[in-house]
Amino acid sequence: MSSISSKTKVYSVIGHPVSQSFSPKIHNYLFEKYGIDAVYVSYDVDPDHVGEAINGIRHLGIMGTNVTIPHKIEVMKYLDEIDEKAKLFGAVNTIKNVDGKLYGYNTDGTGLTKSLKDASGETMDGKKVLIIGAGGACRSIAIQLAIENAASIEIVNRSIEKAQSIVDTINEHFDTKAIATSKVITQKDIDDVDVLINTTPIGMGTDESPIDTSLVPPKNMIIADAVYKPHETAFIKWGLKHDLKIAYGIQMLINQGVHSFSIWTGVTPTLEDTQNILKIFLEEQKENK
Ligand code: NAP
Repeated sequence: MSSISSKTKVYSVIGHPVSQSFSPKIHNYLFEKYGIDAVYVSYDVDPDHVGEAINGIRHLGIMGTNVTIPHKIEVMKYLDEIDEKAKLFGAVNTIKNVDGKLYGYNTDGTGLTKSLKDASGETMDGKKVLIIGAGGACRSIAIQLAIENAASIEIVNRSIEKAQSIVDTINEHFDTKAIATSKVITQKDIDDVDVLINTTPIGMGTDESPIDTSLVPPKNMIIADAVYKPHETAFIKWGLKHDLKIAYGIQMLINQGVHSFSIWTGVTPTLEDTQNILKIFLEEQKENK
């Protein structure tokens, strides 16, 4: 970003609102690190003008765009081709512009599973998974876990219909055995679980936990929280107290960005890159306190 010229390529994120997005920090770090003449900016797009914004991306030659809330579903109708996985997720978070043709992808699920693998050194093959919450984040995470051959996935949500719809997609397309429930999680429910994931907003800016923190997890359990503000949620603190392997919400965010970067540039960033980006995030949090 040090010398912008007429050759500098533009990448972006669209959302509404978008000023809080950490994505510019992720991508501008990576462009500089890999000597790519490009800059990443954010655009706040009104929900009534998503089609015009996508046409702008096409005709201004914006090379790639991340899509965040609330546009991940709406953008799909304006794209030329959508990757099979993004179709199953029912949402696009990454657009690649190849000579005016727009391709849609979704890296939210791999963002979380990469974080789980980095935290544990284990694959998700054969794992028994319990996911709390059944919104957009759960959908991409649960389907990605099925793609990676998890043995079973239970989705617990206060409204069972949303969980059931994700479970139906998994049972229709994969060998993973999925079930939907709506219940208060008890000790018995977690005794046999390998991976426990929170995909509700519970804990965002509060000290609430999505499960009863007096429960005792199995000692090899891996946990992940989609919430990343604060960095150490009450759920993460519970995991720390029991010495579990932990994937933080910010790692999911960084890894989905890193995967988008690979789709756009063909470059695969290193674990050291993600650790450096995490440091930038933690510094920023300290300054904003
Ligand atoms: P969403 O589509 O609105 O879904 C939220 C889910 O949480 C729904 O299933 C909802 O239940 C449940 N829920 C919400 N409040 C609840 C409460 N008080 N008690 C019990 N359940 C509750 O949201 P999303 O897009 O999936 O995002 C969920 C969270 O993940 C947000 O905090 C978001 O910021 C975070 N996220 C993080 C990343 C990352 O990269 N780290 C990526 C995506 C999302 P109902 O179905 O009953 O309404």
